[in-house]
Amino acid sequence: MKVLKFGGSSVQTAERIKNVIEIIREEKSARAVVCSALGGITDQLIQTGQLAANQNPIYLSIWSEIQDRHLVLIEELIHESEKEEIIQAIKTKLLELENVLRGVFLLREFNARASDYVSSFGERLSCYIIAAACRERGIQAEYLDTRKVIITNEDYGVAQVNFSLSNENIQKYFLEHPNLQIITGFIASTPKGITSTLGRGGSDYTASIFAAALMAEELEIWTDVDGVMTADPRKVSKAFSIERLSYEEAMELSHFGAKVIYGPTMAPVLQKDIPIRIRNTFNPAFPGTLVSADSNGTKRIVKGITSVGKVAMVNVWGGGMVGISGVSARLFGALAREKVNVILISQASSEHSICFAIKPEDAQRAKEALEQEFDRELSEGSIYRVEVTENLCIIAAVGENMHHSSGVAAKFFTALGKNGINIRGIAQGSSELNISVVIQQEDEVKALRTVHQAFFLSDIKTIHLFVVGVGLIGGTFLKQLSEQQQYLLDEYKLEVKVIGLSNSKKQLFMPEGITLKYWQEHLSEALESADIDQFIWQMTQLNLINSVFIDNTASAKIAHVYEKILQRSISIITPNKIASSSSQELYQTLKKTAKKHNVLYLYETNVGASLPVLSTLKDLIDSGDRILKIEAILSGTLSYIFNTFDGKTPFSQVVRKAKELGYTEPDPREDLNGSDVGRKILILARECGYTLEFEEVEIKAFLPENCMQAASVDDFFKELSKSDDYFKEMHRQVAAEGKVLRYIARFENHKAEISLQAVDQNHPFYIMQGSDNILAFTSLRYPERPLVIKGSGAGAEVTAAGVFADLMRVANYL
Ligand code: ADP
Ligand code: ASP
Ligand code: MG
Repeated sequence: MKVLKFGGSSVQTAERIKNVIEIIREEKSARAVVCSALGGITDQLIQTGQLAANQNPIYLSIWSEIQDRHLVLIEELIHESEKEEIIQAIKTKLLELENVLRGVFLLREFNARASDYVSSFGERLSCYIIAAACRERGIQAEYLDTRKVIITNEDYGVAQVNFSLSNENIQKYFLEHPNLQIITGFIASTPKGITSTLGRGGSDYTASIFAAALMAEELEIWTDVDGVMTADPRKVSKAFSIERLSYEEAMELSHFGAKVIYGPTMAPVLQKDIPIRIRNTFNPAFPGTLVSADSNGTKRIVKGITSVGKVAMVNVWGGGMVGISGVSARLFGALAREKVNVILISQASSEHSICFAIKPEDAQRAKEALEQEFDRELSEGSIYRVEVTENLCIIAAVGENMHHSSGVAAKFFTALGKNGINIRGIAQGSSELNISVVIQQEDEVKALRTVHQAFFLSDIKTIHLFVVGVGLIGGTFLKQLSEQQQYLLDEYKLEVKVIGLSNSKKQLFMPEGITLKYWQEHLSEALESADIDQFIWQMTQLNLINSVFIDNTASAKIAHVYEKILQRSISIITPNKIASSSSQELYQTLKKTAKKHNVLYLYETNVGASLPVLSTLKDLIDSGDRILKIEAILSGTLSYIFNTFDGKTPFSQVVRKAKELGYTEPDPREDLNGSDVGRKILILARECGYTLEFEEVEIKAFLPENCMQAASVDDFFKELSKSDDYFKEMHRQVAAEGKVLRYIARFENHKAEISLQAVDQNHPFYIMQGSDNILAFTSLRYPERPLVIKGSGAGAEVTAAGVFADLMRVANYL
């Protein structure tokens, strides 16, 4: 014999009830079927009571909504002889409800006892209709109002069951009523016959009481998800269902927020060793979760991650508490008297404090109770204060195998730490069935996803990208990413999603990820105009795990918000040189902030595009080397110009060609004036550990003054062509000595200098091609022949590839 239970979402509409009736029909061994109120009705009933007590007449319109919903249901479910009788019976119940509410309105009081009475109508209405709908479909079913059989004490709201009386009543009732019973969940009555309830979500418990009293072979709880899942699927979309759980694990999950099963449900069946199966009305073929004495069937250390969305922490501080026995007994005694339920006691704090989590609505009462209890100690000063912190939540990892394995806590805390989630308190149950942490409420979903990923999806890692700047470099990066996405998933189990995208005009957010093939279309259709502050606000509001910000612009404004981004524990990747080459102070602040918040700030492409320059330097320095001298050709543009200038083609034409090839900035003077190279050598020096400001870099100009002063780019080219002879002569002289012209940056003895030089064929920079960059590092380890890095140092493809390489570094770090 089985007991079945259908929750509010399974009996929400006529369609769903028909579906439930089919499940009942299929389950030949069902004798008792417990049902909840129609989904949402209990909340509405309580709301009517509260409104009435506030003398708000709106309670009547909610009452009539409730009436309509039930009458429509009868209309859709019942067509035969019983229909009129059922309508009358339902109307009578609703009239009774209306009278009660009028009483509440007049009295202006809606206490727990009245609330239980008002909310009892939900199950009384739903089950009455469902029983009739069963009969109409040929199932011999009767309605059972559990107030006749389940007896509780007078703790209205969450009343305690008198098992000996209730079991006897149930057994007797079933002997006298052989038909299938459609039973009201949640409600009961006191010995005096006053309506009480078993607590919100209590229909599960009702079903368990019946299963135990009737010695059922199994209790089936039918809900709207595939059983108990590794996390609440509404918050963690990647949650999956758990095959088996022990009673204790289910209790623990429920205690820490898994609403899918009401905590006390496990107790009655546990004593009789009756298994519970949690199944999905929307997916009846799925076996769901089996809860029994034996949790085996999976070797997972952690079974599920849960959260209690809203808690307050109470901290009792005082030097006089150390060693004084009885303080905690008095403390928890005072709370018990006030019926304050303690969710968690934290071990994290020092011996000078006791710290525990409770529901926020209990916080004030708890504070006052403790202040009263410890009145003397507070005035003497042995207890300093009772402090309440609100807007917190609890995240818990639950699993029986946890005490057999080390490192669970480390994994838990590391996952949170890497996503910048601050832990306010830690607790580990003495049973070692769970580890729980108290964190800021706003981080709840992010923390759930982070910890869920760490324990269940460690094989697939998801990175969320926010990309600003989709010009030449940004656009190429997105193209490369789009081509590699599948490969990264297949080869590295790395899922890279672009969530936010912005050009200079518009911005776009798609929390599920933007399809990269169509990013241009999506962005051009976006409605939001670009605004970097808004962009950052939305990025932080989304609060996604493993978030990475990529700045592909050359904008100073964006560079100045990096610190804010890093503070939110979001890594940054950028080819934008502005931040790293602004003041030494900003450079250091950004590095420190990244470190403090456990994220990476990467800008490999600031020097030599995708050549491994900064990462090589870092490896050298981390392993104890010291850089003594740097010599480098750092501008792809200038490299191209001097490698191509052969003295025959006029110099101005070579520059024009470079511009046409896209090797220069729109105004080529920005390359030719040397400041870009200046920024690069500055960054190199800083990476080597030296302190240097941009103003200290000596840049020797090689362009005649008239070119630099020209008002427009066109004028510049006109002026430059006037200097063609000057450059031709320069080339002739140098060539006569067997040398070539090279624009070289040098850092030595704490001095940075950039100048146009003539080098002969013995110099490592003599042979250069295209837009190549070359860097020679002389160090303690490479004192005579320097370490040389050479290769293509400009162009969108290689720069975007460098950004991509940084992304892979972040992926390895996270
Ligand atoms: P019912 O109306 O059937 O009693 P509930 O709404 O009380 O259903 O419980 C089911 C809901 O519990 C699910 O829709 C889901 O959002 C939530 N839930 C929270 N944690 C979990 C979890 N770990 N596994 C499954 N569901 C969960
Ligand atoms: N109807 C009640 C509630 O919403 C009981 C239940 O559904 O389990 O809390
Ligand atoms: Mg429920």
